Amino acid sequence: MTPDSLAVERQRFVLTTVADAIHTTASPRRAPSVAFEQTSTTGVRGNYDGRHNRVRIRVPGFLDDPTVADDTIRAAVLHEIGHWADRWDRPSAYGIATGGLMSIVGPIVCAVGIALVFGADRVALGGQTVLAGLAIGLLGAVIIAACSWPAEYRADAFAADRVGAPAVRTMVATRRTRDSFTHPGLARRTARLTRTPAT
Ligand SMILES: [Zn+2]
Repeated sequence: MTPDSLAVERQRFVLTTVADAIHTTASPRRAPSVAFEQTSTTGVRGNYDGRHNRVRIRVPGFLDDPTVADDTIRAAVLHEIGHWADRWDRPSAYGIATGGLMSIVGPIVCAVGIALVFGADRVALGGQTVLAGLAIGLLGAVIIAACSWPAEYRADAFAADRVGAPAVRTMVATRRTRDSFTHPGLARRTARLTRTPAT
């Protein structure tokens, strides 16, 4: 099978996976639209855009890659549907508070920290200002992670319920595996998956 025909077949597979998942999931949201990314500039294989209620799945190097197992694709798609279905990710006090902290307060705190580090030579305090900037920048990163990591664990658990923990582990293992502001790394996500009881 050529990469092109594989990509076409797998786009159908993604649409079926999405349709099946939303059919069996209670969510206050409308069914999401599905967009297929034809470029791989960001390196992200899938994401859920809550503002536009859209699941995006990348084609090059993912859907058209015969070495990527179908279950890995299902796990990636179901992880994004997990974000769509997430009970916290809707207008609620918790959702508004974590959303605001993650997308507004955290980045502002990070920016203040970075500004202090790079502007330190222009103010009298010098070295102490750099240290304060690093501490403030780190605080911003912690704020973002504290809000976004639990949502990633919930999306992984949603996918594991439907496709099994091993497929989710493979999906996580074949992406960037380091911890970041927004995503915990492989070790943490795997640990959560094994701790989540099968339902
Ligand atoms: Zn996610």
